[in-house]
Amino acid sequence: MTEPTAQARVFCIANQKGGVGKTTTAINLAAALAQHRKRVLLVDLDPQGNATMGSGIDKNGAKINLYQVLIGEATVREATVHSESGGYDVVPSNRELSGAEIDLVQMEHREGQLKQALQQVSGDYDFILIDCPPTLSLLTLNGLAGAHGVIIPMQCEYFALEGLSDLVNTIKRIYRNLNPDLELIGLLRVMFDTRVTLQQQVSDQLESHFGDKVFKSIVPRNVRLAEAPSHGMPGVIYDRSSRGAKAYLAFGDELIRRVRTPHRSPLAN
Ligand code: ATP
Ligand code: MG
Repeated sequence: MTEPTAQARVFCIANQKGGVGKTTTAINLAAALAQHRKRVLLVDLDPQGNATMGSGIDKNGAKINLYQVLIGEATVREATVHSESGGYDVVPSNRELSGAEIDLVQMEHREGQLKQALQQVSGDYDFILIDCPPTLSLLTLNGLAGAHGVIIPMQCEYFALEGLSDLVNTIKRIYRNLNPDLELIGLLRVMFDTRVTLQQQVSDQLESHFGDKVFKSIVPRNVRLAEAPSHGMPGVIYDRSSRGAKAYLAFGDELIRRVRTPHRSPLAN
């Protein structure tokens, strides 16, 4: 049973490092939550449009996309399309969105455009997930300024911890200056290979450093997750029995539990 929520919980999937599994996490988490009958909106905040395509939506076919929403020419409702394969809604994007960086600079409240736009639909969803680009640009700032929390997917590699401190510091700055609601929801280990000793070591360090901010669920490296986008489907739908799909389904369960019993963020210190 789910208690109805009056306002959607808004989470950014962010990491300024490229290719770490942000979009794969956003798509599969959206689908996993939808399997729990949660009403989910996935906002594609990356001009690459990978979350759009991976949800089975033609990024160049959408009449209205996030670009028009951010510059105030369309509403989120007008831009929203349904992912048939995933069972959730999507605000699509394509390369047009890279122009928003330039247009936004000239606008007042430029970091607040996405937050303002999402208010219209906040009552329509249980979760709004924002797939961020691999930058700390004005687009990502709009995501972080409009969210309640950040989910950070990461690979347990040698330089991962260093990159992580930059990101955590950025999140803290946004918390202090722009968005006092912002919380670090958790770190998700992805593309994990238990056979690699270094990955295990970095994973252990992560747990000792961040404690219960590290999600228990671990997503393994799994080829079915990588194949799914070319079929326009989340991995959890494409091959439900694969190890990757099971991990993302478990992650969806864990997130729902975590949101029900919120952990207080250490961002204040
Ligand atoms: P970008 O920074 O460019 O937006 P990203 O952080 O969104 O990238 P993804 O696009 O999700 O990263 O993943 C990068 C590549 O790794 C993709 O080809 C994806 O299919 C693959 N991939 C992601 N997660 C896994 C996994 N658990 N197992 C195997 N392949 C994966
Ligand atoms: Mg991506």
